[in-house]
Amino acid sequence: MKERFTCEALIVRSVDYRDNDRILTLITPGYGKRSAMARGGRRGGKKSTEPIEPFHTLRVTLEETERELDNLCEARVVRVRTRLTTDLARLDAAGTAMRLARHLFQPKAAELTGWDTIIDLLDRLECTDDDPSAILAEMSLKLLADTGYALDFERCVRCGRPCPADRSAYLNVSDGGLVCHACGGAGEIIDARLRRCVTAFQRGEKSILSEPPRKSDITAILRLISTVMTTHAGARTST
Ligand SMILES: [Zn+2]
Repeated sequence: MKERFTCEALIVRSVDYRDNDRILTLITPGYGKRSAMARGGRRGGKKSTEPIEPFHTLRVTLEETERELDNLCEARVVRVRTRLTTDLARLDAAGTAMRLARHLFQPKAAELTGWDTIIDLLDRLECTDDDPSAILAEMSLKLLADTGYALDFERCVRCGRPCPADRSAYLNVSDGGLVCHACGGAGEIIDARLRRCVTAFQRGEKSILSEPPRKSDITAILRLISTVMTTHAGARTST
């Protein structure tokens, strides 16, 4: 018998399929990342699977099949976030967050902490007037740590030697963190102040509210995150 389950979900990707269907990539707290076929999901279709849009929290019923693809039996919105879809800067930040989540969530593996972080991120974009790129910078780093992809900003990822907190260091994002001079260094240099900032964000010890980062810090962090996504995209399949 086919297994059915109901859970909260966010759509992180939607691809049109045939005339009237869509293949969705969903993230869920308890069941990780799922691919699901939404029949009639494009033009009106069955009322029970509408509206299917990103950024709103959904409650979905999925049915497992013999293949990788679940069937989406039912979907309804349980938390609407309309501001995200009307404010361009917020929309942009939310879009990047969803792409990051798609890379970091693992297929069919529970990701409870990462789920809370992504929901928190979307709610802050929706409900606060904080700078959207600052929210994204802080929460993206937290999401990396939640999902086991924290970058090591404190020691060399090759030899393990710690780097003094008051020093600049070489950083290689695709290696997962700092690379000391003796181990060959790396092309990018991260200064001591930014190292402290990103470490605190990753651990959830500080937020943009307790310690607002500089504009240049935010730019640097978002560039790191973009490199993380490129690295993951190269190493993994497109699901
Ligand atoms: Zn080293």
